[in-house]
Amino acid sequence: CGIVGIVGEREVAPDIVAALHRLEYRGYDSAGIATVDSGALRRRRAVGKLSQLAALVTAEPIAGRIGIGHTRWATHGAPTTANAHPHQAGPVAVVHNGIIENYRALREELTAAGRNLETDTDTETIAQLCALLMQRGLDPEDAAAATLARLEGAFALCFLFEGEDDLIVAARRGSPLAIGYGDGEMFVGSDALALAPLTNRVAYLEEGDRAVIRRSGAVIHNAAGEIVDRPIRTVSVES
Ligand code: GLU
Repeated sequence: CGIVGIVGEREVAPDIVAALHRLEYRGYDSAGIATVDSGALRRRRAVGKLSQLAALVTAEPIAGRIGIGHTRWATHGAPTTANAHPHQAGPVAVVHNGIIENYRALREELTAAGRNLETDTDTETIAQLCALLMQRGLDPEDAAAATLARLEGAFALCFLFEGEDDLIVAARRGSPLAIGYGDGEMFVGSDALALAPLTNRVAYLEEGDRAVIRRSGAVIHNAAGEIVDRPIRTVSVES
């Protein structure tokens, strides 16, 4: 299971699918990508091998210079297309590796607040909660931060937003996540290998970190909410 995100300068879907291939070694049962295209969220998801997703993206291309991708190893909900990531709720799309331990309580709370949950996953609660907070007036960055503050468990995840062509919010709690630095482009991935052909300049998030990623760079907040520097290393990976 793995995560990829690109805030890029050109069409990102092919690069995201290629990066997911480099995370295949981790195992997965389904995969998907989401982009922002002319402000709108677009998604493609497929059960089975990445070749299924690649074929779908070829048959029904997905435009956008920003996007996120995911290979799923199902823990909550069967490996179906509906349960594959990215999950979307209104203006929010989320990819997530790991487990949200308090998802049952969140589901009840969200249902009581009038949200209609459509999947059997723990992950959908993240997207739904963030969408609810945006509906209540928070901007995407603040809604993501407030959502993360409510989550229990071990995970890595990325948020993508409708109408936001220059914003991915990424967070690490328990599962590694690397930020990749390009030239006017930024990347995020489960490891440096995923990002290898895109950039070799990588900073690993530390436990509890949240990164606000734009083409101009990443602003990283630690678990206490303070802005911190994480060292950027030049890595050499066989790609
Ligand atoms: N718990 C999530 C799910 O089952 C994420 C699984 C993963 O790490 O890929 O959808």
